[in-house]
Amino acid sequence: MNISALVQAQKNHFASQKTKDILTRKELLKKLLSEIIKREKDIINALYLDFKKSEYESVMTETSIVISDLKRTIKKMHHWAKPQSVMPAVLNFPSSSKIYKEPYGTTLIIAPWNYPYQLALVPLIGAIAAGNTVVLKPSELTPNTSKITKEVLDAVFDQKSVAVVEGGVEVSTQLLAQRWDYIFFTGSVQVGKIVAKAAAQFLTPVTLELGGKNPCIIDESANIKLTAKRIVWGKFINGGQTCIAPDYLLIHKSVKEKFVTCFKEEVEIAYGNNPEDSTDYPRIINQRNFDRLDAMLKNENFLVGGNTNREDNYIAPTLIDEPSLDSEVMKGEIFGPISPVISYESEDDLEKIISKYEKPLALYVFTKKKSFTNKMIAKYSFGGGTINDTTVHFANHNLPFGGVGESGVGAYHGKQTFDVFSHKKGITKRYNWLDLTIRYAPYKGKLKTLKAFMKLLS
Ligand code: NAD
Repeated sequence: MNISALVQAQKNHFASQKTKDILTRKELLKKLLSEIIKREKDIINALYLDFKKSEYESVMTETSIVISDLKRTIKKMHHWAKPQSVMPAVLNFPSSSKIYKEPYGTTLIIAPWNYPYQLALVPLIGAIAAGNTVVLKPSELTPNTSKITKEVLDAVFDQKSVAVVEGGVEVSTQLLAQRWDYIFFTGSVQVGKIVAKAAAQFLTPVTLELGGKNPCIIDESANIKLTAKRIVWGKFINGGQTCIAPDYLLIHKSVKEKFVTCFKEEVEIAYGNNPEDSTDYPRIINQRNFDRLDAMLKNENFLVGGNTNREDNYIAPTLIDEPSLDSEVMKGEIFGPISPVISYESEDDLEKIISKYEKPLALYVFTKKKSFTNKMIAKYSFGGGTINDTTVHFANHNLPFGGVGESGVGAYHGKQTFDVFSHKKGITKRYNWLDLTIRYAPYKGKLKTLKAFMKLLS
């Protein structure tokens, strides 16, 4: 089926009203859950083939997230879909008001390669739960995961309700030329702008989950050993290819030396003397990204790591000492296992560096000082973050996950994913047993009463 025929078939299916039956949606999601559980080993294997992602990390950051999101959605979707009563406006007395959740219609989800399974499936679950049809385009850079994702979804859904369209930029461009009712995109800032432009043509609403340069601040009061351990984990999981990984470290000068020693120890504890031999350490996705990252290593001083193997797309967990702000590694999002460390002495130093960049997707603060924490949260604009750890705010489905400014538009996770894919229709129902005459013309002689009435309400 060609792309416009596929989109038309989905539009026809949506127009038939069949996707709006909540019991049907729930049954489909239950079928999806059993298919996903049945194929979990194959999914894990595909992730390994794509970039040597270990079984442990695949379970922790991909399959278990999808399974628990699916279970929660199945359990709660009935409740989420219910019209929600809100207080009526006194001016409308007597009346009642409700918010109805309406599926947008035919939606497009474009996914990236770095968590290729989870970042495709979690939005898709919300879109189906909310009653939409979906065309999913997984990343071409993880072909094994893309293939298995298609197999899993094809086994459960008819193309007219959920279809996976595989391919790269060309296919993505063709998809973006269609008229969608909602587009959910996860990927780079640069492509996010292309998506926003395509969506603007039809005023299609979008969620853009993008990236940025995430600062990680460590002040002099932080528990340095634990800080190093948690940064090593959050930075090097998935080979550093995580949108919310700490990008660069800003450390108070007085604790830098201790931190570097602890960081070195933690890398060794996690990945051994030679991380290239560790079965827990993933590879860079492809040679183009390897070369991009390799260029960041030129002319820098390494406190940890720095070695590479192009044949295997391997870059060691690396700590770069005090790079210049004009250096390659400090230009844009790193998106790899390279961690620059820059020392600071005052909050002004922090500001000079952080405000040089666009609003990041995440910000981390390691400190024992409540006032410092509050100041950092209030002062800087960023998507979300964690205090005294890295990346784990992602795991709380009660928190909105998304960026601000260049790091994204909109947020999802948990109930919010259902809401993202639902238009909220506000409805007021008036009752007929009383009809106050104050709003009706002729207005002559009523202004004083109206003003008194409005004063009473304010
Ligand atoms: P990318 O933008 O290159 O690709 C994402 C998707 O867009 C892929 O499916 C790709 O095929 C498609 N695409 C690429 N070029 C396109 C074009 N010119 N026109 C239309 N479609 C195009 O991103 P990526 O390399 O897959 O992922 C890495 C980026 O994604 C990083 O910047 C990272 O921070 C960001 N990211 C963000 C989140 C988040 O939740 N905010 C999560 C993961 C990754």
